[in-house]
Amino acid sequence: MTAVLQVENLSKSFGGVVAVSNVNFAVEKGELLALIGPNGAGKSTCFNMLMGQLKPSAGKVFFQGEDLSGLPSRAIWRKGVGRTFQITATYASMTVAENVQMALISHNKRVFSVFPYAHKLYRERAMELLSLVGLADQADRHCAILAYGDLKRLELAIALCHEPSLLLMDEPTAGMAPSERERLMALTASIVADKGISVLFTEHDMDTVFAHAHRIMVLNRGELIANGTVDEIRNNAQVQEVYLGGGNLYESNEAG
Ligand code: ADP
Ligand code: MG
Repeated sequence: MTAVLQVENLSKSFGGVVAVSNVNFAVEKGELLALIGPNGAGKSTCFNMLMGQLKPSAGKVFFQGEDLSGLPSRAIWRKGVGRTFQITATYASMTVAENVQMALISHNKRVFSVFPYAHKLYRERAMELLSLVGLADQADRHCAILAYGDLKRLELAIALCHEPSLLLMDEPTAGMAPSERERLMALTASIVADKGISVLFTEHDMDTVFAHAHRIMVLNRGELIANGTVDEIRNNAQVQEVYLGGGNLYESNEAG
């Protein structure tokens, strides 16, 4: 079976700084896969290359068997690679439901450009998505007054409007309280299970990673040093060295 995403020898240098070095991995269908590593390990740089925001110095990225090299981020997104942002990207002056409807309109435009009762349909679909992320009761509130955790769940609903096969989430829980963090990752895990999509995410909090990830990859100084199950990663001497040696394994969940 073809992997959803196949990354081959991916590398990125910024001047003399090697941010990502010869990274290889695959994401399988229905997998909730964590990419962890200390601050500056190269996680965001990897994400930005997968999404077409950064051009790799070397290497290739295949999505459902198709080479994405050189494609702009919008083309990659259209093929079904979604992402949520480290900084929430919603329109504060619109309601929760309107934000989702906007995303649905943008997604469906190319398919149903002349569909006559589009807005009504989108409202229903928006409400379905808001129910999925537990925000139906907030549908008509303005985003400006939403709690941070609710905004992050709205962002997830917006990302799902585009029906991604693969969702990239770079520190989706940054800035969240532990209970909100747990709730967002449990929600993400249930969406992965229900919809059969794949999610690649980064996360600082090890308890959250160990509780929810199906598999974990560890990046250190741009190199992938481990790739395995939760137990394999927990017991991996090199991983313990990187985290415990550097005092980082249980570092606080700051954005980085
Ligand atoms: P992480 O997300 O794991 O914290 P990053 O991918 O943000 O790590 O950064 C990896 C390394 O690349 C760091 O040394 C960082 O300073 C460097 N880096 C990231 N983006 C840039 C950039 N645009 N220009 C120069 N250096 C960068
Ligand atoms: Mg980062």
